[in-house]
Amino acid sequence: MQNIHLRFPKGLKKCVTLSYDDGKVYDRDLVEILNKYKIKATFCLNSKNLDKDTYVKSSEIKELYGGHEIACHTYSHPYIENMPIGQVILEILEDRKNLESICGYIVRGMSYPYGSYSDEIVSLLPSLGIEYSRIVGSSFNYDIPQDFYLWKATCHHNDNLLENAKRFLLPNHKDNLELLYVWGHSYEFYNDNNFNLIEEFCKMLYENPDIYFATNIEIADYIKASKNLKFSADFSMVYNPSNLDIYLDVGGKIVKAEKGKLLRL
Ligand SMILES: [Zn+2]
Repeated sequence: MQNIHLRFPKGLKKCVTLSYDDGKVYDRDLVEILNKYKIKATFCLNSKNLDKDTYVKSSEIKELYGGHEIACHTYSHPYIENMPIGQVILEILEDRKNLESICGYIVRGMSYPYGSYSDEIVSLLPSLGIEYSRIVGSSFNYDIPQDFYLWKATCHHNDNLLENAKRFLLPNHKDNLELLYVWGHSYEFYNDNNFNLIEEFCKMLYENPDIYFATNIEIADYIKASKNLKFSADFSMVYNPSNLDIYLDVGGKIVKAEKGKLLRL
């Protein structure tokens, strides 16, 4: 029997994603840089703030964030940890409804406003249609989250971003997957006058064939689908009931478990 290890699409071990909050107009500059270097990100928006001064306009959202992910950040960006739970529910569903009507797809991701949450809020998220949520802080590691509702990024872009990226780019001779996850707010680049930092970062990664570039929900969907693979008792067969092709390293060889199919290993 050969050891089986999960890989990202195309058999890759490394993945990069970004997450930027609040939907300020400086997202326009950030998206321009990301698109230039083909880096994908998730943008967490508060629909109550759209069209206000210094925030993006609802009319531009669909095009501006095209190819990236739009995620929920609650309707009005309150500190939700000690609010009545009913109000937290309204904050999340109202934001989802508004964002979905603008972007035309189902909004399933979230980041906690001010990083505030409680065990009760976390336990409610699946029933509110939320499939992952990002907390604040930096893990300074490249691990896949154990719990997608308490997803911590590798680092904020002000936490030694280029050093973290350089370390991430070292060859991985082990069997683990590595995820570099960067978070922040685009207005911080404006305030600190350092859009060049994110551009340098993107340049380091640009068209690297060893990296899978994905939005947050693409990663969550892929990992969840991989956990739902059905293996035969002797591990000579795998059935993939999901709608995503899943890549595996089987004894050193990359194989693709095609969506909806049975594969003999
Ligand atoms: Zn925020």
